[in-house]
Amino acid sequence: MKKPKITVVGSINMDLVVSTSAFPHKGETIMGDSFSTIPGGKGANQAVAAARLGADVTLIGCVGDDTFGRELIHHLQSCGINTANVKPVTDGSTGVASITIAEKDNSIIVVPGANHRLTPDMIEEYESVIAESDTVLLQLEIPVESVEKTVELSKKHGIRVIMNPAPFQNLSLKTLELVDYITPNEHELASLLTSEEKKEFFDHHKDKWIVTKGKQGVSFYEDDEEKLVPGFRVEVKDTTGAGDTFNGALAVALSKGESLYEACRYGNAAAALSVTKFGAQSGMPGHEEVASLLQ
Ligand code: ATP
Repeated sequence: MKKPKITVVGSINMDLVVSTSAFPHKGETIMGDSFSTIPGGKGANQAVAAARLGADVTLIGCVGDDTFGRELIHHLQSCGINTANVKPVTDGSTGVASITIAEKDNSIIVVPGANHRLTPDMIEEYESVIAESDTVLLQLEIPVESVEKTVELSKKHGIRVIMNPAPFQNLSLKTLELVDYITPNEHELASLLTSEEKKEFFDHHKDKWIVTKGKQGVSFYEDDEEKLVPGFRVEVKDTTGAGDTFNGALAVALSKGESLYEACRYGNAAAALSVTKFGAQSGMPGHEEVASLLQ
């Protein structure tokens, strides 16, 4: 069977994780317990999720022309992802998330760096890659104009677009209208529906929405009726990247021609397996594992 061809347009980050016993006060220096660098960024996470599940994945994005950038490109290639369109740029450092874990909590500073150098003009250069995809998968850690350009080009070529609206950014109704599926979690949905205009849009386009609901699973609308696709009961270790795993898996299943219900079930199964392991990308399952949970 032909592998589904998925193009992910999005962010690539290095997570810099420090564990310590307490958060430092302003101006204070303290000693930490451990440090690790972990590949992340929602675009890269979703690309890895889809590649693990057997898709032919191309990632479009930017890294800095620096050590993290080279390391991340190497890592993505080792996951089987085509990185020919991951551009090292000289006017921004590779995106990083500086994460401090302490006192059973965390604080995070994200510096988008090169991710914000992905311009609509670059997206235009990659039109042929988009045109050859079964599905284009987007999130919102890159400039809105580049998201909008990707949606416009995808629909010009009749390509299915899934948009995970995370983190929340204000998108035009024109863009939302063109997207086939919008996949917020419940918080993102609430942020998206703050204006009357957007609420009206939601009501008129219910078939576009797939709302992820943590362990409950996901819901979508069919014939104006909300349908819940129940989640799988698993022993939870770390929910980081659950949403990204769901989106990558949803793209794979829809590209294989599965019904929306079956694709959501596949996404639920993949995401449930991902939360049973630590780490976002390191916890993402392969197709066989998902298939056996679905049996
Ligand atoms: P995250 O930000 O943690 O990546 P999210 O907030 O974007 O996730 P959620 O709705 O929390 O999205 O989770 C996405 C999907 O992951 C859910 O729809 C479900 O399929 C799966 N999932 C999440 N948490 C659990 C859980 N505790 N048990 C089983 N499945 C889960």
